[in-house]
Amino acid sequence: MKFTLYMPTKVFYGKNCVKEQAKEFSAFGNKALIVTGKSSGKKSGALKDVTDILISLSIEYWVFDKVENNPSLETVKKGSIIAKANQVSVIIAIGGGSPIDAAKAIAALSVNNIEPIELLTTSIKIPSLPIIVIPTTAGTGSEVTPYSILTAKQFNTKKNFYSPYSFPTITFLDYKYTCSLPDRVTIDTAFDAFSHLLESYLSNKCTKQSAIYAIEGLKVFANCLLAIDERKFTDNIRDQLLYASYMGGLAITLTGTTIIHAMGYSLTYYKALSHGHANTLFIGEYLRFNNQADKEKIENVLKILKFSAIIDLETYLLKNIGKKPTISQEEINKFATLAMTQGSVKNNPRVIKESDIIKIYQKVLLR
Ligand code: NAP
Ligand code: ZN
Repeated sequence: MKFTLYMPTKVFYGKNCVKEQAKEFSAFGNKALIVTGKSSGKKSGALKDVTDILISLSIEYWVFDKVENNPSLETVKKGSIIAKANQVSVIIAIGGGSPIDAAKAIAALSVNNIEPIELLTTSIKIPSLPIIVIPTTAGTGSEVTPYSILTAKQFNTKKNFYSPYSFPTITFLDYKYTCSLPDRVTIDTAFDAFSHLLESYLSNKCTKQSAIYAIEGLKVFANCLLAIDERKFTDNIRDQLLYASYMGGLAITLTGTTIIHAMGYSLTYYKALSHGHANTLFIGEYLRFNNQADKEKIENVLKILKFSAIIDLETYLLKNIGKKPTISQEEINKFATLAMTQGSVKNNPRVIKESDIIKIYQKVLLR
Protein backbone atom coordinates (compact mmCIF):
# COMPACT_ATOMS: atom_id res chain seq x y z
CA MET A 1 0.00 0.00 0.00
CA LYS A 2 1.21 3.51 -0.77
CA PHE A 3 -0.52 6.86 -0.34
CA THR A 4 -0.17 10.47 0.74
CA LEU A 5 -2.74 12.23 2.88
CA TYR A 6 -3.16 15.95 3.43
CA MET A 7 -6.59 17.06 4.61
CA PRO A 8 -6.05 19.99 6.94
CA THR A 9 -9.56 21.48 7.23
CA LYS A 10 -11.04 21.80 10.71
CA VAL A 11 -14.70 20.80 10.45
CA PHE A 12 -17.60 21.62 12.75
CA TYR A 13 -20.74 19.72 11.83
CA GLY A 14 -24.20 20.19 13.31
CA LYS A 15 -27.14 22.49 13.80
CA ASN A 16 -26.14 25.92 15.14
CA CYS A 17 -22.41 25.11 14.97
CA VAL A 18 -21.58 28.62 13.70
CA LYS A 19 -23.00 30.33 16.79
CA GLU A 20 -21.75 27.64 19.15
CA GLN A 21 -18.19 27.96 17.82
CA ALA A 22 -18.22 31.76 17.41
CA LYS A 23 -14.84 32.11 19.12
CA GLU A 24 -13.21 30.31 16.15
CA PHE A 25 -13.67 33.51 14.11
CA SER A 26 -11.32 35.42 16.41
CA ALA A 27 -8.18 33.48 15.43
CA PHE A 28 -7.43 35.25 12.14
CA GLY A 29 -6.89 38.95 12.78
CA ASN A 30 -9.44 41.71 12.80
CA LYS A 31 -10.34 42.35 9.14
CA ALA A 32 -12.49 39.95 7.13
CA LEU A 33 -13.81 39.82 3.58
CA ILE A 34 -17.08 37.93 3.24
CA VAL A 35 -17.41 36.39 -0.23
CA THR A 36 -20.93 35.37 -1.21
CA GLY A 37 -23.51 35.29 -4.01
CA LYS A 38 -26.24 37.78 -4.69
CA SER A 39 -28.86 36.15 -2.45
CA SER A 40 -27.69 32.92 -0.77
CA GLY A 41 -26.05 34.58 2.25
CA LYS A 42 -29.23 36.49 3.06
CA LYS A 43 -31.80 33.79 2.20
CA SER A 44 -29.98 31.11 4.18
CA GLY A 45 -29.55 33.28 7.28
CA ALA A 46 -25.82 32.53 7.34
CA LEU A 47 -24.74 36.08 6.48
CA LYS A 48 -26.57 37.53 9.49
CA ASP A 49 -25.24 34.84 11.85
CA VAL A 50 -21.68 35.58 10.69
CA THR A 51 -21.91 39.37 10.73
CA ASP A 52 -23.45 39.27 14.23
CA ILE A 53 -20.43 37.27 15.38
CA LEU A 54 -17.93 39.56 13.64
CA ILE A 55 -19.54 42.63 15.23
CA SER A 56 -19.49 40.99 18.68
CA LEU A 57 -15.78 40.20 18.22
CA SER A 58 -14.97 43.72 16.90
CA ILE A 59 -13.80 42.28 13.58
CA GLU A 60 -14.18 44.78 10.75
CA TYR A 61 -15.69 43.26 7.59
CA TRP A 62 -16.49 43.94 3.96
CA VAL A 63 -19.08 42.02 1.94
CA PHE A 64 -18.30 41.06 -1.66
CA ASP A 65 -21.65 39.68 -2.87
CA LYS A 66 -20.97 39.70 -6.60
CA VAL A 67 -20.09 36.04 -7.13
CA GLU A 68 -22.10 34.60 -10.04
CA ASN A 69 -22.80 30.90 -10.65
CA ASN A 70 -19.63 29.31 -12.09
CA PRO A 71 -17.37 32.22 -11.03
CA SER A 72 -15.15 33.89 -13.60
CA LEU A 73 -11.54 35.00 -13.41
CA GLU A 74 -12.78 38.60 -13.67
CA THR A 75 -14.96 38.19 -10.58
CA VAL A 76 -12.21 36.74 -8.41
CA LYS A 77 -9.96 39.59 -9.50
CA LYS A 78 -12.57 42.12 -8.31
CA GLY A 79 -12.83 40.35 -4.95
CA SER A 80 -9.08 40.28 -4.51
CA ILE A 81 -8.82 44.03 -5.21
CA ILE A 82 -11.18 44.67 -2.27
CA ALA A 83 -9.25 42.23 -0.06
CA LYS A 84 -5.91 43.87 -0.88
CA ALA A 85 -7.17 47.44 -0.60
CA ASN A 86 -8.44 46.76 2.90
CA GLN A 87 -5.60 44.45 3.93
CA VAL A 88 -8.02 41.81 5.17
CA SER A 89 -6.61 38.95 7.21
CA VAL A 90 -9.23 36.28 6.51
CA ILE A 91 -11.70 35.35 3.75
CA ILE A 92 -15.13 34.03 4.78
CA ALA A 93 -17.09 32.17 2.09
CA ILE A 94 -20.87 31.90 2.44
CA GLY A 95 -22.85 30.18 -0.29
CA GLY A 96 -22.75 27.30 -2.71
CA GLY A 97 -19.73 25.99 -4.57
CA SER A 98 -19.48 29.19 -6.61
CA PRO A 99 -18.74 31.59 -3.71
CA ILE A 100 -16.62 28.95 -1.96
CA ASP A 101 -14.47 28.39 -5.06
CA ALA A 102 -14.25 32.14 -5.66
CA ALA A 103 -13.12 32.63 -2.05
CA LYS A 104 -10.29 30.12 -2.52
CA ALA A 105 -9.05 32.05 -5.55
CA ILE A 106 -9.43 35.42 -3.80
CA ALA A 107 -7.53 34.12 -0.76
CA ALA A 108 -4.64 33.16 -3.07
CA LEU A 109 -4.70 36.33 -5.18
CA SER A 110 -4.79 38.57 -2.10
CA VAL A 111 -1.22 37.62 -1.18
CA ASN A 112 0.34 36.48 -4.47
CA ASN A 113 1.18 39.15 -6.98
CA ILE A 114 -0.24 37.31 -10.00
CA GLU A 115 -3.11 37.61 -12.46
CA PRO A 116 -6.09 35.22 -11.98
CA ILE A 117 -5.22 33.27 -15.14
CA GLU A 118 -1.89 32.34 -13.54
CA LEU A 119 -3.80 30.41 -10.89
CA LEU A 120 -4.59 27.95 -13.70
CA THR A 121 -1.15 27.82 -15.24
CA THR A 122 1.41 28.05 -12.40
CA SER A 123 1.61 27.00 -8.78
CA ILE A 124 1.14 29.68 -6.17
CA LYS A 125 4.15 30.46 -4.00
CA ILE A 126 2.81 32.33 -0.97
CA PRO A 127 0.26 30.62 1.31
CA SER A 128 -3.28 31.94 0.82
CA LEU A 129 -5.13 33.92 3.48
CA PRO A 130 -7.05 31.70 5.91
CA ILE A 131 -10.44 30.67 4.52
CA ILE A 132 -13.55 30.06 6.63
CA VAL A 133 -16.38 28.31 4.76
CA ILE A 134 -20.10 28.04 5.39
CA PRO A 135 -21.88 26.14 2.60
CA THR A 136 -25.51 26.93 1.79
CA THR A 137 -25.90 24.15 -0.79
CA ALA A 138 -25.36 20.42 -0.28
CA GLY A 139 -23.48 19.19 -3.31
CA THR A 140 -20.02 20.35 -4.23
CA GLY A 141 -18.10 19.29 -1.12
CA SER A 142 -15.91 22.34 -1.84
CA GLU A 143 -15.95 23.02 1.90
CA VAL A 144 -13.28 20.34 2.36
CA THR A 145 -11.57 20.16 -1.04
CA PRO A 146 -8.55 22.17 -2.24
CA TYR A 147 -10.27 22.70 -5.62
CA SER A 148 -11.56 25.94 -7.08
CA ILE A 149 -13.35 25.62 -10.41
CA LEU A 150 -13.15 28.86 -12.38
CA THR A 151 -14.70 29.89 -15.68
CA ALA A 152 -11.88 30.90 -18.00
CA LYS A 153 -12.89 32.56 -21.28
CA GLN A 154 -9.28 32.21 -22.39
CA PHE A 155 -9.73 28.41 -22.45
CA ASN A 156 -13.41 28.40 -23.50
CA THR A 157 -14.21 26.23 -20.48
CA LYS A 158 -14.10 25.81 -16.72
CA LYS A 159 -10.72 24.98 -15.24
CA ASN A 160 -9.62 23.62 -11.92
CA PHE A 161 -7.18 25.60 -9.77
CA TYR A 162 -5.88 23.81 -6.71
CA SER A 163 -3.06 24.09 -4.26
CA PRO A 164 -2.24 22.73 -0.81
CA TYR A 165 -2.94 26.31 0.37
CA SER A 166 -6.51 26.27 -0.94
CA PHE A 167 -8.04 23.94 1.60
CA PRO A 168 -10.54 25.80 3.78
CA THR A 169 -9.01 26.46 7.18
CA ILE A 170 -12.33 25.99 9.00
CA THR A 171 -15.66 24.71 7.71
CA PHE A 172 -19.00 24.99 9.46
CA LEU A 173 -21.61 22.55 8.18
CA ASP A 174 -25.18 23.24 9.28
CA TYR A 175 -28.04 21.89 7.19
CA LYS A 176 -30.31 24.75 8.32
CA TYR A 177 -28.52 27.02 5.84
CA THR A 178 -29.69 24.76 3.00
CA CYS A 179 -33.39 24.87 3.96
CA SER A 180 -34.06 27.94 1.80
CA LEU A 181 -32.85 26.17 -1.36
CA PRO A 182 -35.42 25.83 -4.15
CA ASP A 183 -36.19 22.20 -5.06
CA ARG A 184 -34.41 22.52 -8.41
CA VAL A 185 -31.09 23.58 -6.81
CA THR A 186 -31.52 21.00 -4.03
CA ILE A 187 -31.80 18.18 -6.58
CA ASP A 188 -29.08 19.39 -8.96
CA THR A 189 -26.63 19.78 -6.09
CA ALA A 190 -27.62 16.45 -4.48
CA PHE A 191 -26.89 14.71 -7.79
CA ASP A 192 -23.56 16.53 -8.02
CA ALA A 193 -22.69 15.04 -4.62
CA PHE A 194 -23.78 11.62 -5.90
CA SER A 195 -21.57 12.08 -8.94
CA HIS A 196 -18.57 12.86 -6.71
CA LEU A 197 -19.18 9.75 -4.60
CA LEU A 198 -19.64 7.56 -7.66
CA GLU A 199 -16.71 8.94 -9.66
CA SER A 200 -14.40 8.78 -6.65
CA TYR A 201 -15.37 5.18 -5.92
CA LEU A 202 -14.80 4.13 -9.54
CA SER A 203 -11.71 6.33 -10.09
CA ASN A 204 -8.47 4.53 -10.77
CA LYS A 205 -7.09 6.63 -7.90
CA CYS A 206 -9.58 5.11 -5.43
CA THR A 207 -7.88 3.93 -2.23
CA LYS A 208 -9.11 1.90 0.72
CA GLN A 209 -9.62 5.15 2.62
CA SER A 210 -11.34 7.13 -0.16
CA ALA A 211 -13.68 4.16 -0.72
CA ILE A 212 -14.75 4.38 2.93
CA TYR A 213 -15.87 7.99 2.40
CA ALA A 214 -17.51 7.13 -0.92
CA ILE A 215 -19.44 4.12 0.39
CA GLU A 216 -20.52 5.99 3.52
CA GLY A 217 -21.78 8.88 1.37
CA LEU A 218 -23.55 6.53 -1.06
CA LYS A 219 -25.36 4.79 1.83
CA VAL A 220 -26.54 8.14 3.18
CA PHE A 221 -27.50 9.35 -0.31
CA ALA A 222 -29.55 6.14 -0.74
CA ASN A 223 -31.69 7.19 2.24
CA CYS A 224 -32.62 10.37 0.34
CA LEU A 225 -33.72 8.89 -3.00
CA LEU A 226 -37.42 8.71 -2.21
CA ALA A 227 -37.49 12.17 -0.63
CA ILE A 228 -35.87 13.60 -3.77
CA ASP A 229 -38.43 11.84 -5.95
CA GLU A 230 -41.28 13.23 -3.83
CA ARG A 231 -39.66 16.65 -3.20
CA LYS A 232 -40.06 16.11 0.54
CA PHE A 233 -37.04 17.88 1.95
CA THR A 234 -37.44 17.51 5.70
CA ASP A 235 -34.75 18.70 8.13
CA ASN A 236 -33.56 15.13 8.46
CA ILE A 237 -33.18 14.74 4.68
CA ARG A 238 -31.38 18.10 4.38
CA ASP A 239 -28.98 16.98 7.11
CA GLN A 240 -28.30 13.70 5.30
CA LEU A 241 -27.78 15.44 1.94
CA LEU A 242 -25.27 17.80 3.53
CA TYR A 243 -23.44 14.88 5.12
CA ALA A 244 -23.37 12.93 1.84
CA SER A 245 -22.02 15.99 0.06
CA TYR A 246 -19.31 16.37 2.71
CA MET A 247 -18.36 12.69 2.25
CA GLY A 248 -18.17 13.35 -1.50
CA GLY A 249 -15.81 16.26 -0.88
CA LEU A 250 -13.52 14.12 1.27
CA ALA A 251 -13.61 11.34 -1.33
CA ILE A 252 -12.71 13.55 -4.33
CA THR A 253 -9.98 15.28 -2.36
CA LEU A 254 -8.25 11.90 -2.37
CA THR A 255 -9.10 10.82 -5.91
CA GLY A 256 -10.32 13.71 -8.07
CA THR A 257 -13.32 13.25 -10.36
CA THR A 258 -13.43 11.43 -13.72
CA ILE A 259 -14.95 11.91 -17.16
CA ILE A 260 -18.43 12.91 -15.99
CA HIS A 261 -17.10 16.22 -14.72
CA ALA A 262 -14.80 16.66 -17.71
CA MET A 263 -17.77 16.20 -20.06
CA GLY A 264 -20.19 18.30 -18.04
CA TYR A 265 -18.17 21.52 -18.08
CA SER A 266 -19.00 22.35 -21.71
CA LEU A 267 -22.72 21.94 -21.07
CA THR A 268 -22.39 24.53 -18.33
CA TYR A 269 -20.10 26.84 -20.31
CA TYR A 270 -21.91 26.72 -23.66
CA LYS A 271 -25.46 25.62 -22.75
CA ALA A 272 -25.89 27.26 -19.33
CA LEU A 273 -26.87 24.02 -17.56
CA SER A 274 -26.19 23.96 -13.81
CA HIS A 275 -23.17 21.91 -12.78
CA GLY A 276 -25.24 19.11 -11.24
CA HIS A 277 -27.67 19.00 -14.16
CA ALA A 278 -24.82 18.75 -16.69
CA ASN A 279 -23.09 15.91 -14.84
CA THR A 280 -26.22 13.88 -14.17
CA LEU A 281 -27.07 13.52 -17.86
CA PHE A 282 -23.91 11.42 -18.37
CA ILE A 283 -24.12 9.09 -15.36
CA GLY A 284 -25.98 6.20 -17.07
CA GLU A 285 -23.74 6.13 -20.13
CA TYR A 286 -20.63 6.55 -17.95
CA LEU A 287 -21.63 3.43 -16.01
CA ARG A 288 -22.26 1.46 -19.20
CA PHE A 289 -18.88 2.55 -20.63
CA ASN A 290 -17.02 1.57 -17.46
CA ASN A 291 -18.97 -1.58 -16.72
CA GLN A 292 -16.39 -3.92 -18.20
CA ALA A 293 -13.59 -2.28 -16.18
CA ASP A 294 -15.37 -2.05 -12.85
CA LYS A 295 -18.39 -4.37 -12.94
CA GLU A 296 -18.09 -5.43 -9.32
CA LYS A 297 -17.99 -1.88 -7.97
CA ILE A 298 -20.86 -0.77 -10.20
CA GLU A 299 -22.94 -3.69 -8.94
CA ASN A 300 -22.12 -2.65 -5.41
CA VAL A 301 -23.30 0.92 -6.07
CA LEU A 302 -26.57 -0.37 -7.55
CA LYS A 303 -27.01 -2.64 -4.53
CA ILE A 304 -26.45 0.24 -2.07
CA LEU A 305 -28.94 2.40 -3.97
CA LYS A 306 -31.38 -0.53 -4.34
CA PHE A 307 -31.59 -0.37 -8.14
CA SER A 308 -31.46 -3.66 -10.00
CA ALA A 309 -29.81 -2.33 -13.17
CA ILE A 310 -28.02 0.74 -14.57
CA ILE A 311 -31.09 1.62 -16.63
CA ASP A 312 -33.24 1.88 -13.48
CA LEU A 313 -30.80 4.27 -11.83
CA GLU A 314 -30.54 6.27 -15.06
CA THR A 315 -34.34 6.50 -15.40
CA TYR A 316 -34.63 7.73 -11.83
CA LEU A 317 -31.93 10.39 -12.34
CA LEU A 318 -33.27 11.64 -15.68
CA LYS A 319 -36.80 11.84 -14.32
CA ASN A 320 -35.60 14.17 -11.58
CA ILE A 321 -33.30 16.38 -13.62
CA GLY A 322 -33.93 19.10 -16.22
CA LYS A 323 -34.08 18.58 -19.99
CA LYS A 324 -31.22 17.68 -22.31
CA PRO A 325 -29.93 20.62 -24.35
CA THR A 326 -30.09 20.59 -28.14
CA ILE A 327 -26.69 20.08 -29.66
CA SER A 328 -25.05 19.67 -33.06
CA GLN A 329 -22.38 17.19 -34.17
CA GLU A 330 -19.91 20.10 -34.54
CA GLU A 331 -20.52 21.08 -30.92
CA ILE A 332 -20.05 17.49 -29.78
CA ASN A 333 -16.69 17.33 -31.54
CA LYS A 334 -15.61 20.61 -29.91
CA PHE A 335 -16.83 19.54 -26.45
CA ALA A 336 -15.02 16.21 -26.73
CA THR A 337 -11.76 17.98 -27.56
CA LEU A 338 -12.26 20.29 -24.57
CA ALA A 339 -13.12 17.37 -22.26
CA MET A 340 -9.85 15.66 -23.21
CA THR A 341 -7.93 18.73 -21.89
CA GLN A 342 -9.25 18.12 -18.34
CA GLY A 343 -6.90 16.24 -16.01
CA SER A 344 -9.78 14.19 -14.58
CA VAL A 345 -9.99 12.16 -17.82
CA LYS A 346 -6.90 10.24 -16.68
CA ASN A 347 -8.69 9.06 -13.54
CA ASN A 348 -11.34 7.19 -15.47
CA PRO A 349 -11.38 3.48 -14.61
CA ARG A 350 -11.30 2.52 -18.29
CA VAL A 351 -8.87 4.27 -20.62
CA ILE A 352 -10.90 6.64 -22.72
CA LYS A 353 -10.16 8.23 -26.09
CA GLU A 354 -11.65 11.31 -27.71
CA SER A 355 -13.67 9.07 -30.04
CA ASP A 356 -15.22 7.33 -26.99
CA ILE A 357 -16.17 10.71 -25.50
CA ILE A 358 -17.79 11.68 -28.81
CA LYS A 359 -19.84 8.46 -28.70
CA ILE A 360 -20.97 9.12 -25.13
CA TYR A 361 -22.04 12.68 -26.01
CA GLN A 362 -23.93 11.31 -29.03
CA LYS A 363 -25.69 8.57 -27.07
CA VAL A 364 -26.69 10.94 -24.28
CA LEU A 365 -27.61 14.05 -26.24
CA LEU A 366 -28.63 12.96 -29.74
CA ARG A 367 -30.85 9.97 -29.05
P1 NAP B 1 -23.95 27.75 -6.81
O1 NAP B 1 -23.57 28.14 -8.19
O2 NAP B 1 -23.03 28.12 -5.71
O3 NAP B 1 -25.40 28.31 -6.47
C1 NAP B 1 -26.50 28.01 -7.30
C2 NAP B 1 -27.68 28.89 -6.99
O4 NAP B 1 -28.22 28.57 -5.72
C3 NAP B 1 -27.34 30.37 -6.94
O5 NAP B 1 -28.31 31.05 -7.69
C4 NAP B 1 -27.44 30.75 -5.47
O6 NAP B 1 -27.90 32.08 -5.25
C5 NAP B 1 -28.47 29.77 -4.97
N1 NAP B 1 -28.35 29.43 -3.55
C6 NAP B 1 -27.26 28.91 -2.93
N2 NAP B 1 -27.57 28.65 -1.65
C7 NAP B 1 -28.86 29.03 -1.45
C8 NAP B 1 -29.75 28.96 -0.34
N3 NAP B 1 -29.40 28.42 0.83
N4 NAP B 1 -31.01 29.44 -0.52
C9 NAP B 1 -31.42 29.94 -1.72
N5 NAP B 1 -30.63 29.99 -2.80
C10 NAP B 1 -29.37 29.52 -2.67
O7 NAP B 1 -24.24 26.18 -6.82
P2 NAP B 1 -23.38 24.90 -6.40
O8 NAP B 1 -23.93 23.79 -7.18
O9 NAP B 1 -23.28 24.77 -4.94
O10 NAP B 1 -21.92 25.23 -6.94
C11 NAP B 1 -21.57 25.03 -8.29
C12 NAP B 1 -20.14 25.44 -8.51
O11 NAP B 1 -19.27 24.65 -7.69
C13 NAP B 1 -19.70 25.22 -9.95
O12 NAP B 1 -18.88 26.28 -10.38
C14 NAP B 1 -18.92 23.92 -9.87
O13 NAP B 1 -17.98 23.76 -10.90
C15 NAP B 1 -18.26 24.06 -8.52
N6 NAP B 1 -17.81 22.80 -7.90
C16 NAP B 1 -16.72 22.86 -7.11
C17 NAP B 1 -16.22 21.72 -6.51
C18 NAP B 1 -14.99 21.82 -5.65
O14 NAP B 1 -14.50 20.81 -5.14
N7 NAP B 1 -14.45 23.00 -5.47
C19 NAP B 1 -16.87 20.49 -6.69
C20 NAP B 1 -18.00 20.47 -7.50
C21 NAP B 1 -18.47 21.63 -8.08
P3 NAP B 1 -26.98 33.41 -5.28
O15 NAP B 1 -26.00 33.26 -6.40
O16 NAP B 1 -27.98 34.51 -5.49
O17 NAP B 1 -26.31 33.55 -3.96
ZN1 ZN C 1 -19.14 18.46 -9.10
